[in-house]
Formats: sequence, structure tokens, C-alpha cells
Amino acid sequence: MEIDAGFDGGSIVVLDEERAASAGGRSPDAARASGEIDLSLRPDNAADFRQWFCFKSSGDPGERRAFRIVDAGASEYPDGWEDYRACASYDGEDWFRVPTRFEDGALRFRFTPSRRSVTFAAYARYSIARHRRLLGRAARSPHARVDVIGETAQGRPLSMISFGREGPSTLHVWMIARQHPGETMASWCAEGVVLRLLDRDDPAISALLEDAVVHVVPWVNIDGGVLGNHRTNAAGRDLNRSWDDPDPIAAPEIFALRQAIRDQGVDLFLDIHGDEALPYVFAAGCEGNPGFSPRIATLESDFTSRLLAADPSFQRDKGYDPDAPGEADLSCAANFIGERYDCLALTLEMPFKDDANHPDRRRGWSPGRSDTLGRALLDATLLTLPELR
Ligand code: ZN
Repeated sequence: MEIDAGFDGGSIVVLDEERAASAGGRSPDAARASGEIDLSLRPDNAADFRQWFCFKSSGDPGERRAFRIVDAGASEYPDGWEDYRACASYDGEDWFRVPTRFEDGALRFRFTPSRRSVTFAAYARYSIARHRRLLGRAARSPHARVDVIGETAQGRPLSMISFGREGPSTLHVWMIARQHPGETMASWCAEGVVLRLLDRDDPAISALLEDAVVHVVPWVNIDGGVLGNHRTNAAGRDLNRSWDDPDPIAAPEIFALRQAIRDQGVDLFLDIHGDEALPYVFAAGCEGNPGFSPRIATLESDFTSRLLAADPSFQRDKGYDPDAPGEADLSCAANFIGERYDCLALTLEMPFKDDANHPDRRRGWSPGRSDTLGRALLDATLLTLPELR
């Protein structure tokens, strides 16, 4: 069997027998007898975050593939492996879960494929080719504009797709995704947002774009995604901890985004993420911002209740502990934008695992459900527009 992680988004280290035995606390003989390939998580290219993995395994169809990530328990979010199942796909489109166990600090999963090659990943891979196809589709549409608003640390174009026409009272809606490169569900969700906005036969979209311009940045941390990082960009920065004072060299993605938002204005801001540990879809608000007001509290409550009505996978019972008043971290995107522009700003989180309220045995929380949630964000946006100013 061969293992290959040499493609965009690929990341894993295959351990030799000696290293596997010392890392996993078992003898080379015991490791061989288990029939498992011993693997190790590779850190981000310029920071010590470990969580994401993605690799292709090739061999004879019908041959059992068994893997053991010996150091999963030492990753950034070890809670992410409890009740977790690894993702697999033959074609990069249909992703399903495989039997997985987390014990003694090691993540073990196995699968007997019916075809030669199968890709395993922490979550469904979203490739740079797919990203370019989405941008191309938007660029060819008469209903969208694609602008390059800046460059990443490694010089890749940072693209924004905008919908709707500017008028004297136009509202500005921003949706950005995947500041954290391993959270690929954010890219699948942003794709749902973009594809629905491209559909002018959809009456809700026509109504939305009569009063608003919607700007979507579907993949903020492109370098990190291509490099197979989990958390940081090519310069080792956590972009969602860089908003209060973005370094133009080390975090140019956020420097450019802040400028674009300032130029266009903002009335509603959504930042799309995935959470490693919690098996729920939830939002985090700006309750800890110094400028948090009853008006913003009402907007948060109204938007999230409308999102819940539009897509019941969203819920409001489980999520992060609220920030104490005045204690918000203003280096995070939603807090920073909410505070500076006194607008509705939310962080949206989807699970790596499954939606515990509506479990899907075969797929877990899937790219398809991420896409559907993205579409529902636009229903909640439309209904909230009249209250934004
Ligand atoms: Zn995140």
C-alpha cells in the first residue's frame, strides 16, 4: 500500500518502524502484528499546530487499510477525537465516515475499499481547483463580480465575489470563510452561499439584492489550505487572532480584508468556521464587546432565530460560554468588526463530527449539509435586512 500526501491540502507523516514503536509505546513486532500503518500529525508549516490530516492511500481493492495516528492525543484539540469518525472518499465528491476509535492518545481508523485509491481526511477536502472553478463560475455570471482585494503571504490572489448593485441606501453584507485552513466545512458552506446568490430565479435572492450588496470571501487562508495547515497561514499567523493589528507582511490577508471592508462599509458580518469538539452548529456573538448594546443583542437574537427556522441543524442551546461584558477578544474578526462598525457580527461554527441533534450515520456533518446551511444564511439575512440600520 502507498500513502501520498503530496497534493494541495495533503498532510501526514508516515512513521518508520523504529519511530512508530518509540512514539506509540509498542515494539516493532507488535506494530507489525497489528497490521496498522503508524502515522503522525504534521504541524503547520510555520507554527506548532497539529490537527489536520489528509492523504491518499493506494493499493489492491479489497485490501484492508488500517491506520493509527500515534500522536493524535497531543494535537491542538484532543477533544476533537472523542466520538469522532474519520472522513473518506473515492472521488473527492462523496465523503463518508469510517470506523474510528480514539484510545490511549492514538486515533485508529480502518476501511476496506472496493477501489484502488481512497482519500482519508480530518474533514472533506476542499481543493484549490474547486475554489478556482467557483470563482470562474461567478466571473462568467452577469450577476456577480470577482475582485482581487489583496495577496496572501505567498502571493496568491485573495478573491472577493460581490453580488448586487450599489445604490444610495444599499446595505453591505459580508460573509467570509476559512480563516482557519483545516476547517474545510467553511469552504463547502461558502460555496452554498455563492451558488444560491448566483441563482436569480430564486425570489429570496432577487429581494435580498434589491436592498443589499453581498460580498463573499470564500477562502481567506488559501496558503494555509494549500500547505495542509490546520490553523495558521504560511507565515505562522492565526488569522482570526490578527484583526486588531494585522501585520501587512505576516497577515496580509487580514490587512487587505480590513481595508476592503472599510472601503465598502458593513452592516452585517458573518465569519464561517468549524469547531473540532462540539457536535453542533452554533453561532458566537459580540456580547463581550465594550460597545455591545441592546440593539445588537436584539439583532443577534433575531438573526439566529431566523436561521434556526430556515435550517433546523442550527441551534442555540449549545455553544461557547459567553464572554463576560467588556472581555471580548478584539483580535477575532467578528468582535473586531462588530465593535468598530457597531453592526451585527457573528462567528458561525459547524462540527467536524456530526450534528448530534440530527445524526447521519453514513456521512456525519457533511459537505452537503454545510452547503445547505450556507444557503439558509441568506434567508436569515433577507429577513433581518430591514432592522440592520
Ligand atoms: Zn476556526
